[in-house]
Amino acid sequence: MNYLEGLNESQLNAVKNIDGPMMVIAGAGSGKTRVLTYRIAHLMRQGVDSFNILALTFTNKAAKEMKERINSIIGGNESMNITMGTFHSVFARILRYNSDKLGYPSNFTIYDTQDSRSLIKMIVKEFGLDDKVYKANAVHGRISSAKNNLISPQAYEANVEIVGEDRMAKKPEIFRIYKEYVKRCFQSGAMDFDDLLYQTNVLLRDFPDVLHHYQQKFKYILVDEYQDTNYSQYLIVKKLAAVYENICVVGDDAQSIYSFRGANIENILNFKKDYPDFKMFKLEQNYRSTSNIVNAANSIIKRNKDQIEKDVWTDNSEGGKINVIRCLTDNEEGRVITNRIYEIKQRESIDYKDFAILYRTNAQSRSFEESLRKLNLPYKIYGGLSFYQRKEIKDLIAYFRLSANEKDEEALKRVINYPKRGIGKTTMDNIILAARQYDVAVWDVISDFNRYPVSINAGARNKISQFVTKIQSYAIQMEKTPAYELANNIAQSSGILKNLYDDKTPEGVARYENIQELLAGIKEFSVQQEEKDEVGTLSDFLIDVALLTDADQEKEEDKNTITLMTIHASKGLEFPHVFIVGLEENLFPSQLSLTSRTELEEERRLFYVALTRAEKSCTLSYVVSRYRWGQLVTAEPSRFIDEVDQSFVNVENEVRGRSGGKSLSGYKRPSDNRTSGFGMMGGKKKRNLTPLGKSSSTPPSKKGNASGGTTEELKVGYNVEHARFGKGKVTAISGTGSDKKASVFFPRVGAKTLILKFAKLTVL
Ligand code: ATP
Ligand code: MG
Repeated sequence: MNYLEGLNESQLNAVKNIDGPMMVIAGAGSGKTRVLTYRIAHLMRQGVDSFNILALTFTNKAAKEMKERINSIIGGNESMNITMGTFHSVFARILRYNSDKLGYPSNFTIYDTQDSRSLIKMIVKEFGLDDKVYKANAVHGRISSAKNNLISPQAYEANVEIVGEDRMAKKPEIFRIYKEYVKRCFQSGAMDFDDLLYQTNVLLRDFPDVLHHYQQKFKYILVDEYQDTNYSQYLIVKKLAAVYENICVVGDDAQSIYSFRGANIENILNFKKDYPDFKMFKLEQNYRSTSNIVNAANSIIKRNKDQIEKDVWTDNSEGGKINVIRCLTDNEEGRVITNRIYEIKQRESIDYKDFAILYRTNAQSRSFEESLRKLNLPYKIYGGLSFYQRKEIKDLIAYFRLSANEKDEEALKRVINYPKRGIGKTTMDNIILAARQYDVAVWDVISDFNRYPVSINAGARNKISQFVTKIQSYAIQMEKTPAYELANNIAQSSGILKNLYDDKTPEGVARYENIQELLAGIKEFSVQQEEKDEVGTLSDFLIDVALLTDADQEKEEDKNTITLMTIHASKGLEFPHVFIVGLEENLFPSQLSLTSRTELEEERRLFYVALTRAEKSCTLSYVVSRYRWGQLVTAEPSRFIDEVDQSFVNVENEVRGRSGGKSLSGYKRPSDNRTSGFGMMGGKKKRNLTPLGKSSSTPPSKKGNASGGTTEELKVGYNVEHARFGKGKVTAISGTGSDKKASVFFPRVGAKTLILKFAKLTVL
């Protein structure tokens, strides 16, 4: 039994419970993923065939790591045969085998978000609707949520409640767009991300033999991060597990952070209903973090009303407190955090990969990138504009996609005139219009003008025919030529390589190199496939690429880098040193979340997820002003900083109250009726010197803001702080009204006389 040595008693119980439905709901870092891993190893040791195991993970990388771990636990390479990966990648492959049943080509394209939005934009335009009312991402969100709740366009239209809601939002045409969108995806032989789940449900619902096949195949089913499965995923699992009911789900309701994608804590409740005899296992010991981090995280999450009671503790050492750093601007935040990382790295001689910078939104990565680059520290940004989203990469991949599936309209639009071959926009508009009138795919029209006549001139027609012939010649090779060979051939004969090679600007050179890099990646893929005795076609490669998640983009050689990612992408991961940045109101919690308790609670769970990624140290930072949407906006520290039990917090440098008092921000927000932390600076009432009548849209920077007006409280002898000059002491007050001035001695820069109306002084 010694392969199970690395487990505590509760973990061991969960691992050894082989048959029947079971659920592990436990706090962060308590070993849920570890239990899944060992459980699979144990199943295999007990004679379960690895082909009969299905394990669903949050990222593909997690699946890969889990397989490696399983091999190291039980030896050999048996884990290769387990069906393991994200919902999307596992079911995309299953759909591929069965696509004909659903009327899709076997090489159906997977539309990414950009493709979906581009298609929606086009439909909105064709319908003559206002694109400010029917914004592509909002409409896409609506469609996505309908699909994840398995609401077909017909059901959508018939559902008085939803349609009524659209009407209230003055968007009565959504169902019509939805209907058209579905039709057009189908016509293009494309599934979007949500279709991968939706169509799997259709497949399992309408084809009992297929359902039966997979029920027999997947005798043991395991799901990680169960709290973030949506209804569509929940149903798939339920159907597959219906015969054997050997289903093990693990999750943490406190880490449910995808409700905007339709993930639903209710699935945890449904589980109990579906399998009344299920066994519940609890894990309470956290192995990941210091006790300060565990306790700080507990203190945050207990503020949420809706949660399953959990008691998380750790035997780990106390560790340092959670640091809080205040910075003036986002650029300074970048510098300060980067320097901090550098210092820790030097002091402890640890790896770059031991650090992570986590943020709420991708846009925040810029300032960190800049500073990291200046200090020459290696880093990797996950998510955001990833390698595969770069224009040149998407262009070449569009050729691949089109060669795999000629009806793929988004790919076709991208490359029909790239590199330029004289097929103008008007020509394309005419063709698209004709395709709509004939009610067929654009490809059908351009590959058979005799059948679908279009009024374009002979020259254009000729060029288009050449293009069609070219794509057809690639298509013939698709299923038999190894991926690398065909990819290379396409890159050259499409003219993309030459086009980029001729561009000698630094950007052009970088783009050329990126294409080379993509080809190298495909080469690697081909080699790996050969090792498995498979041909490894370009269309196989395309599935891999389409389903990369934000956390998946990793290459072997750049492993030792600082990680930059959104908190959403960091789920399930851990790092010795974590920096959670941009802890400001309206950013984190996000502005959009401030209208309801449910949404605010989700932001709080997100903060909990962020904190619990940290093993040894966790640092929070916020700025006083930040560039957002192209302008400088004043920021307030996030309420979440206040919400951490202050005995686990170390507020660094200037911002700390004299006696290290309880509240950090110490001001009352208009919409916030919390009482804790308000006005409790070292036990004293705060001195908020914001001028009377000043609008709350420019909130005081911190504690009190002595910017003139009600200066009766600013007195000689007070310690103050200035945004640029740092800390100082008031030596004199003069003038009246808007001319009122204060003379302040700043140790760093000397004496200054400041007009209070302009100078942002904070009383300490
Ligand atoms: P999350 O909720 O963040 O997904 P989790 O519950 O899945 O966390 P794991 O990632 O499985 O937790 O475990 C957290 C860390 O603790 C890992 O580094 C894991 O190897 C370690 N760990 C878990 N259980 C044990 C144990 N019994 N002995 C030693 N280390 C353990
Ligand atoms: Mg986990």
